[in-house]
Amino acid sequence: MQNQLLDQKQAWSDQLNQWVQETQHFGEKGNFVDYIPDLIDANRTDLGVTVMGMDGTTLHAGQWSTYFTLQSISKMITFILACLQRGLSTVMEFVDVEPTGDPFNSIIRLEANHQGKPFNPFINAGAITISSLLVGEHTEEKLESVIDFMELMIGRRPHINEKVYRSEEKIAFRNRALAYFLKETGYLEGEVETALDVYFRQCAIEVNTTELALIGLILSQDGYHPFTKKQLFEEKIAKIVKALMLTCGLYNASGKLAAFVGIPAKSGVSGGIVAAVPARNCKSKNPFPDGCGIGIYGPAIDSIGNSYAGTKLLQQLSREWELNIF
Ligand code: GLU
Repeated sequence: MQNQLLDQKQAWSDQLNQWVQETQHFGEKGNFVDYIPDLIDANRTDLGVTVMGMDGTTLHAGQWSTYFTLQSISKMITFILACLQRGLSTVMEFVDVEPTGDPFNSIIRLEANHQGKPFNPFINAGAITISSLLVGEHTEEKLESVIDFMELMIGRRPHINEKVYRSEEKIAFRNRALAYFLKETGYLEGEVETALDVYFRQCAIEVNTTELALIGLILSQDGYHPFTKKQLFEEKIAKIVKALMLTCGLYNASGKLAAFVGIPAKSGVSGGIVAAVPARNCKSKNPFPDGCGIGIYGPAIDSIGNSYAGTKLLQQLSREWELNIF
């Protein structure tokens, strides 16, 4: 029985390795974000993945252990935290949950919509608003609560990549423009520069694919951490986050995610993708019928901002293991 399980796990691992090899060449078509200096050492075809199940079964392939910065994936974490700290109804007064179809850093809809209310917490405008809502007057307090919350999820206090933070902060003119506009329309609390500073630093938090997979797994279990056995956030919040991931998680390629992958996922411009696969007993090829989390890293991104090879790998995984929720 034990041997049979080991053989099965090896077979899944082999599949994962094969799919990484088959999709990593897509990275050649992608590019790196120029404000992330660490990517100088990366290869376009780097690609890594971790898949983690409820019983702790963890499968890795490729450059799964590389550390990279969260970037936009942090928006999901601060949204959950703001809901925990301020309550969903307060948060919803400041941001909507509507997809935009616009690029992540677009400014155009802010003036056109409800006197400046950001469409959702996954576009930059909404994420900066959320950073302003986190409890605390200064950057340190707000950020400390983000790190504390991440520690509850991944079991480690993550590090902020100072070099990445500084380099983004220096050239973030558009994010500054968004934040000052939000302040003028009443959708940013407290000091503008504090909200921006928190936002730039949360984007520079480092993780690897195993940690992303764990975050995905917790979301797939509606906020319940299967290893510490704690309910970290309410089921209702987890469901909203997964709805946002599916409708807004891959910027203006989110419709394609829903149509061709069918798994709630969130990407970041440093090439990370986190996905939350719900429990589904009916599919025979699915190695994780109780649900799983997926973490992917492929640093070369497409023109929209999603990992080129990473999205192909996620699509293949979803197809081969029948993970599509529809
Ligand atoms: N720090 C990035 C920015 O605001 C995050 C972008 C992203 O990953 O989408 O431009």
